Amino acid sequence: LYKHLCKDKLTLALFKAATHVNLGDGARCSFWYDPWLEGQSLADRFPALHKHSTSRNRSVQQAVVDSNWICSIKRQPTHEVLLQFIQVWNILRNVQLNDSPDQLRWKFESSGSYSAAFAYQIQFHGRVSSPAARLIWRIGIPNKIHIFAWIVVQKRCIPHNPICQLCRTPPETAAHIFGHCSFSLQFWIALFHRYNLTINARPSSFKDGIIDWWINEDLVCISTAGKIRLGVIIMLGWWHTWLERNLRGFQNKQRSATQLCSIAAEELQAWKFAGCKGAIFFT
Ligand SMILES: [Zn+2]
Repeated sequence: LYKHLCKDKLTLALFKAATHVNLGDGARCSFWYDPWLEGQSLADRFPALHKHSTSRNRSVQQAVVDSNWICSIKRQPTHEVLLQFIQVWNILRNVQLNDSPDQLRWKFESSGSYSAAFAYQIQFHGRVSSPAARLIWRIGIPNKIHIFAWIVVQKRCIPHNPICQLCRTPPETAAHIFGHCSFSLQFWIALFHRYNLTINARPSSFKDGIIDWWINEDLVCISTAGKIRLGVIIMLGWWHTWLERNLRGFQNKQRSATQLCSIAAEELQAWKFAGCKGAIFFT
């Protein structure tokens, strides 16, 4: 199951820590690597036996039928391998497969169901403050915007050019583009005005204007609907600021803050037609 999910080792480790597999027919579940045994994989629990085996890419179904897994144990096992062999033998005697498909379940969600938000929280746990995660993922908007906002608050993947493409002053950092840039500020003012939202403080008033600004505006916003409207507009604003930055940098074209505001408003309208929950708070 995991090989379909992720390639990099850290993500794989985090998925392993957060999930377990409910065995069904055993067809998609890796005998050695998926955590189908009390939330652990056989490879983690019996490393000596795993190392002494061939055919490590079998599914549970392939391994268990006719005790095929035994054929893949290499000759001349050590004492430790033999001990682990007996333990696995005993465990497998009690394994019952059925006709339903194997299911990947989340250990830490009461429903057990997979959710993208939770997957992201797991992946970045300990590396980024939770207020950002809470702000971003609670709002129903297209996933590409969630992911982009997540990148923005971590200030990742943002190239640093000598000067900002939007206001032509140095340097082009994430903190500048989304927090301190004079063009961005004009754009924010236009966008907030269009949706009748109040900017209580400028993003540039905060050391980390990107997320601290949002947290501050969120705190002074009283209603839940108001908080969602604020979040939608901030993430929509980041996205279109970034598109404008790319348009200027790569295509040598530009739009005014007012024009960009209209384009952003069209996208928000499209989200609404598409049924995004966050967009229903806008008329
Ligand atoms: Zn700028």
